[in-house]
Amino acid sequence: MSEQWTPGYLDSDLDGVHADTFAVRGGQRRSPEGEHNEALYLTSSYVFGSAAEAAATFSGERSGNVYSRYTNPTVRTFEERLAALEGAEQAVATASGMSAILATMMSLCKGGDHVLVSQSVFGSTIGLFDKYLKPFGLEVDYVPLADADAWRAAMKPNTRMLFVESPSNPLSELADIPALAEVAHAKGAMLVVDNCFCTPILQQPLKLGADIVIHSATKFIDGQGRCLGGAVCGQAEQMKELVGFLRTCGPTMSPFNAWVFLKGLETLRLRMQAHCASAHSLALWLSEQPGVTRVYYSGLPSHPQHELAKAQMSGFGAVLSFEVDGGKEAAWRFIDATRIFSITANLGDAKSTITHPATTTHGRLSPEARAAAGIGDGLIRLAIGLEDVRDLQADLASGLAAL
Ligand SMILES: *Cc1c(COP(=O)(O)O)cnc(C)c1O
Repeated sequence: MSEQWTPGYLDSDLDGVHADTFAVRGGQRRSPEGEHNEALYLTSSYVFGSAAEAAATFSGERSGNVYSRYTNPTVRTFEERLAALEGAEQAVATASGMSAILATMMSLCKGGDHVLVSQSVFGSTIGLFDKYLKPFGLEVDYVPLADADAWRAAMKPNTRMLFVESPSNPLSELADIPALAEVAHAKGAMLVVDNCFCTPILQQPLKLGADIVIHSATKFIDGQGRCLGGAVCGQAEQMKELVGFLRTCGPTMSPFNAWVFLKGLETLRLRMQAHCASAHSLALWLSEQPGVTRVYYSGLPSHPQHELAKAQMSGFGAVLSFEVDGGKEAAWRFIDATRIFSITANLGDAKSTITHPATTTHGRLSPEARAAAGIGDGLIRLAIGLEDVRDLQADLASGLAAL
C-alpha cells in the first residue's frame, strides 16, 4: 500500500509546468481514498508490512517514512512546492523561522568559523548569534547592509558565511544580492538570504547568486497569522546536512502547520500582488502628506536604492515606515487614532498592523544604538494587509489629523 504514496506521485504528470502551477498541484501524495485536497498526515510514526520491510526502511535500502521527525508526506509536499517557487534543488521545512536559521548555522558552520551578519537583521537573529552561537566558538561581525565595500573589507580567511535580510526592517534598506554573492564566492564563502519579507514571489535570491534562502513561513507564506514555521532552500548537497541536523535535533515542521502553509502557497502570488499594490499606493500618498517628514519604501523613486529594488525584486513588499514630526508623543497619538490597523509588531497577515519601533521592537536598544540604527522616535512602521486600501488610507488620515 505504501507504494501508492510514493513521494512525487503526481510530479511526472506535471513535467514542464510553471512554478505557480507546481505550487498548487506539485508533490501531492494522494491516498487510495482519492481525496482532492492534500491529506493531512497527522502521524508521528509509520508501520511496516513485515520485519524485513522495517529493517530495509531503517537501513535506507528501501525508501519510506519511519518517523515524522525524519519525514512526513504533508511536510514534504510543502517542501517540494516551496523549492519550486524559489528555484531551489531542495527545501527543508522547520518548526519556525528562527529554527531555520539555527539549523542552517548548526549544519553548515562549526566553531572557529567566521560569519558576517547584516547589522539590520531580525532582533532574535542577533540574539541567536550573540547569545547562543558565539559561546560555541563562532566568530561574528556585524556589517552595514547596503555597503558592499564594507562586506568585502570585513572578509577574513575563515569567513564561511554572509548573512543578510533584504529589504531590512523597518527602514527598507536593500542588500545588493549579486554584489554580495560575488564578495562571498571570491573567498569561498556562502551567501545566505532571509527572504521572509519578499517571499519567492517578489525575490528569488538563488537566481541572483545567493546560496541559501531562509524563510519564516509564519509571515506571508501562512499569510493569515495562524501557524509558526520556517524553511531553508538550497542545493541538495547542503540540504542533506540540514536534514541530518533536523532528524537528530528535532526542530521539524508540524504536519498540521505544513498543511496550513500548503493552502498559503496556493494563494501566495495573488496575496503578495494585493499587499504590494496597497503598500505602494499608501507609501506614495504618505509621502505627500504634511506632517510626514520621510517615507521609507523601496518602491518610491526617492529611495536611494530604488534602481536596485527594481532590478532584484518584482514588487516592493508590504512593509513601509515613515517619520512624523513631533517625536514619540506625536507617533503614539497617530497610532492611537487609527481604528483598523492592529497595534502589534507582527507582519505578513491579511490584517494590517502598525508599530512604534523605538518603544517596541527596538525598545531594548540604548538610545545611542537606536539612533545609529536610524530608528527615530517619530518612526512608525506599517505592514499592509488585505483590507480595502481606501479604508486603510482613511485610517491613516485619522492618524495624521491627531498629530
Ligand atoms: C519573524 C522573522 C523571523 C523569525 O521567524 P519565526 O517564524 O517567528 O521564528 C526571522 N526573520 C525575519 C525577517 C522575520 O521577520
